[in-house]
Amino acid sequence: MSIFSHPDFDDHEGVYSFSDPVSGLRCYIAVHNTNRGPASGGTRFWQYTDDAAALTDVLRLSRAMSYKNAMAEIPLGGGKGVIIKPEGSFDRAALFSAYGRAIEKVGGQYITAEDVGVSPDDMRVIKTQTDFVAGLDEGEAASGDPSPHTADGIYRGLGVAVQHKLGVEGFGGLIVAIQGLGHVGYNLAQRLYKSGARLIVADINPEVTARAATELNASIVSVDDIYAQDADIFAPCALGGAINAETIDDIKAYIVGGAANNQLRTPDMGEALRTRDILYCPDYVLNAGGIINVAAEVSGTYDYSWVDAKLENIKTTLQDIFTRSDSSNRPTNEVANDIARERLRS
Ligand code: NAD
Repeated sequence: MSIFSHPDFDDHEGVYSFSDPVSGLRCYIAVHNTNRGPASGGTRFWQYTDDAAALTDVLRLSRAMSYKNAMAEIPLGGGKGVIIKPEGSFDRAALFSAYGRAIEKVGGQYITAEDVGVSPDDMRVIKTQTDFVAGLDEGEAASGDPSPHTADGIYRGLGVAVQHKLGVEGFGGLIVAIQGLGHVGYNLAQRLYKSGARLIVADINPEVTARAATELNASIVSVDDIYAQDADIFAPCALGGAINAETIDDIKAYIVGGAANNQLRTPDMGEALRTRDILYCPDYVLNAGGIINVAAEVSGTYDYSWVDAKLENIKTTLQDIFTRSDSSNRPTNEVANDIARERLRS
């Protein structure tokens, strides 16, 4: 399929593919929109079923980054990189070096950081080939792993959601079902546990669920059963598409909000949640904490008070979306998209 007729093509400014037969690198880098600044968004390293799936992912994720960065009011455009994980053994350092050279070829239009499957160690390797990388754990303005900041923003935003939907302050006594206990999900679980929430968790990795049971007194359920739990909040913190035609009728929570990008498999799931009286926290608004932290590093001088103010702003933005959604009887994802598009235009 050609790029321009791809259903997820959204006037992306640039879509690049790179390969390096020596290291096995095959990747896409998509620059969606640079109106607000150089495009930034993490790199995903994933075993895609085929390159069409990787292309779809990079187109959707880069557009979401434009919306996310606009909603977070940071001076960055939207972009994303996806690397197709090679089958069999490979030299990780060689592969990420080649990826660094690919980013350098994009000439500063795209600045990368961590996403699923990628660590600060990989960022260090990329840095040997290009300066267009953040999320580093050493260097003048280094901001480190963005995940704890993503979890922090989600935690703050969910506080607004419970106030709006349930009329309560804080998480004491609430039940939260968390899907995926990775870098963000586990950190979020720790914050919620500390503030008195009871946790129900599911992950394909039994080691992390066992750790959550021991450290956070979490109840473990299977990955198929996590949707149907009697919880106040359902927090999708694994991969995208968790809310779809097969899962939506199982969800009993009053609020959906978590880390995963593109939680709604199709946009109509936003209205489907609204008609079931479930409050949806638009993913790219709620999970912007990591890119906010990255933006502080990209600015050249890391200032936590700036990060903290932007994390607080997630609360104000969410409240605005909830209020507009209530008064217009429109789903929160559509309200958020409208505001994001308006900000991108201006
Ligand atoms: P991660 O890879 O560290 O964690 C993902 C976790 O989900 C892993 O523990 C994995 O085992 C689990 N998982 C995978 N499939 C699952 C399934 N079907 N059911 C239950 N668990 C499953 O990734 P992360 O950095 O924590 O990111 C999680 C999500 O949040 C991703 O969608 C990512 O794009 C998004 N996100 C991350 C950040 C960040 O700062 N890391 C920022 C914004 C958005």
